[in-house]
Parts: sequence; C-alpha cells; structure tokens
Amino acid sequence: MGDTRSEKGRLSKRALKAALAVPEFLAKRRPGPRILIYHQVGTNLGREMEVATETFANQIRYLEAEGSIVSLDNAVSRMGTPGDDRLFVLTFDDGYSDMYENAFPLLAEHGIPFTLYITTLPMQDASVSKPGTLPLTWEQLEEMFDSGLATVGAHTHSHPDLRFLSTDAVAAELDESNALIGDRLGVQPRHFAYPKGWWSAGAETEVRKRYATAVLGEGPPNRRGTDHYRLHRVAVQKSDGMRFFKRKLATGLVLEDRLRRIVRSYHGPPAVDP
Ligand SMILES: [Zn+2]
Repeated sequence: MGDTRSEKGRLSKRALKAALAVPEFLAKRRPGPRILIYHQVGTNLGREMEVATETFANQIRYLEAEGSIVSLDNAVSRMGTPGDDRLFVLTFDDGYSDMYENAFPLLAEHGIPFTLYITTLPMQDASVSKPGTLPLTWEQLEEMFDSGLATVGAHTHSHPDLRFLSTDAVAAELDESNALIGDRLGVQPRHFAYPKGWWSAGAETEVRKRYATAVLGEGPPNRRGTDHYRLHRVAVQKSDGMRFFKRKLATGLVLEDRLRRIVRSYHGPPAVDP
C-alpha cells in the first residue's frame, strides 16, 4: 500500500526544489571540495535519507566522470587549491549495515575511498536502532577498515543533541565512542560529525581537543580559510533525483541552504560571510 502522506511530502519537496532551482540557473559554481552526506543505501524504506542502490551507482559514475572521489584527509589538505571543486568526498553517517551490503561492494570494486561516521551505541546494542534499520556489525566495520578505503570517524556514542548536554556529558559521549572504535580498530578516530549538524560552541571546544576535523550539515562552501572544525557538507536525498544531485553539487542550491537557515533545519555555527 502506498504511503500517501510521505508521497505528498516528497512531491511538495520536489516542487520546492524546482521553485528554488529556477533562480539558481545562473548561480555561480561554488568553490571547494564537495563532502557528500549519505545515510542508507538500498533499503527501500522510502525515507529522504536513503538512496536506491542503482541511484547510488549512477551518482558514483557521475562523480568519477566529473572529478575525483578522494579521502577526507586528501580533500581537506587540498581545500583552496585550484580544481578543489572537482574533489568529492563520500561520507556515510550513523553506520547502517545496508551501507556495507549495498554500497561497499561497489566502492571496493572501484577502489573508492569513503568516510564512515559511526554511532557506537547501536553497534553495541542493535535493539536501540530505529525500526527497519540495522547497524553495522563490528566485523563489517573491521572489514571495511582493513580494505584501506574506509576512514572511520566518530559520531558520538548515542547520537544526542550536543547543544543541550553539559561539557562533561559531551566529553563522555566522545570518549566512549573513541574508546570503542579504538579498541576494535586499533586507532583513534581523527574525524567527527555532529549528530544532525547540531553544533554548539561548548561541544566544539570538546571536539577540538579530540579530532583533526569536524563536519556539519549543509551550509556555505568549504573554501580556503574555512575552519577544519566547521566543514559543511551536501546532503544527498531520495527526492533529489540525478537532476538536483548534479545541481546541488554545482551550486550547492544556495537558496535552499539560506531557506534552511531561516526556517528550521540549520543548526551549525553562525554564518561567516566572506
Ligand atoms: Zn547521524
């Protein structure tokens, strides 16, 4: 049976994107490496945070034709250099087993690097996962890490809204996650993703003590001088299709970003306009 409500939601989201995309037609290509956010691949749950396996394969093909898919470290070290807008970084948030099942085989076959931001509590106790989703197992994570393609970053232990936690509680979330990942992989994570892009100055102080970079949600381009602890990403959504996927990568759908900031879904640090 079709889910009319979510179908309507998708349609209106498409309509909004179409409306916003019209003035984008003449928008300038944004500078900087594109750090893409993926969550789930090929689960067929109909959520915005998921893409079909075939769509994912098409997107990878497009990215490889347009530029290079590189590791996060590589992209950050080349940020602000000529041609950095043709560097693409694949990041997968939370750590879902469908990523291992449906995305990793393709990435392994093509030798494509990627970054995983792992939430460790569901990996310890799968019963806390959302219905219809399964976390990665530690064995799956180890296999991907051992392939040499995966950068394993942290995404807290229990995915809380860090804006409302005490400094001690933030530190505990980060330390627990780092300890578990360190135990299994033998190395501490050097990269961090804020759950849902929920940023706060207090949390950032703790993040800076433990990691080399941190990523947020969508926002302004990553250019020369962008703080490595405030890297913005481009969210890949089910309703994008290839058309908006390409458009987002070219211009960043600047208006959509601005709207997001105004409406509700931007939780990052205040804008620093150049
Ligand atoms: Zn997350």
